[in-house]
Amino acid sequence: MSSNRSPMEGMFIAVTGPSGSGKTSICKALLETFPHLRFSVSLTTRQPRPAETDGKDYHFVTEKEFHERIDRGDLIEWAENFGQLYGTSRETMERALRDGHDLLLDVDTRGARALKRAWPGGIFVFVIPPSIEELERRLRGRGSETEETIRRRFDNALSEIREIVWYDYIILNDRLDAAIERLRSVYVAETCRRERMMVKIKPFFDRSGGM
Ligand code: ADP
Ligand code: 5GP
Repeated sequence: MSSNRSPMEGMFIAVTGPSGSGKTSICKALLETFPHLRFSVSLTTRQPRPAETDGKDYHFVTEKEFHERIDRGDLIEWAENFGQLYGTSRETMERALRDGHDLLLDVDTRGARALKRAWPGGIFVFVIPPSIEELERRLRGRGSETEETIRRRFDNALSEIREIVWYDYIILNDRLDAAIERLRSVYVAETCRRERMMVKIKPFFDRSGGM
């Protein structure tokens, strides 16, 4: 992916956070507010949760299909989490950005690092719960995991949080509505950055003799 994007192209926000921190809930609310913003649907080999839809929350694929995609170079990044594979389609991501859509991605710290290497101009956001105890409560409250995977997800959270130092923004998810508002503010502020507004500003300069 080139780092020399034209200003007409979309931008992406990669959201990371420990399992149970509330990323999915926050991202869903953001997507409802901004129709222009698209969710990057990842591929995964894990089983769908009861409320999840294939093609909307994830593309649920077999391990064989996933490995074929890796071999074809179709994945811009991928990682194993809790014994399952997760990855982002290069083509889908590049096409959406080229077509001028902004993209929201839900990726782990390794995925976010890979995306930052590919395109440092992305926006990297880390969601944290108000406490470790609350994280465990939410993981259990979701009711979608076995005791063993809850433990693995919980143990993994502590090492993921250490990566927070290189992220651009940190969203504290104490109250869900407040956390949604925080991410919404980040997105709106990022759309107002001068370099992203240049296309709209240029005609003013053209009328007054160039930039
Ligand atoms: P993630 O995608 O980070 O794994 P989810 O969005 O699935 O997290 O949230 C995990 C659980 O915590 C869900 O049951 C969700 O409804 C709940 N939850 C999310 N944010 C909050 C919050 N601020 N307060 C209480 N519960 C929350
Ligand atoms: P879950 O099973 O809870 O949906 O996701 C488990 C972990 O996988 C989360 O940390 C989530 O951010 C991460 N994840 C989801 N999709 C991708 C992806 O495409 N790439 C990477 N690297 N991680 C992902």
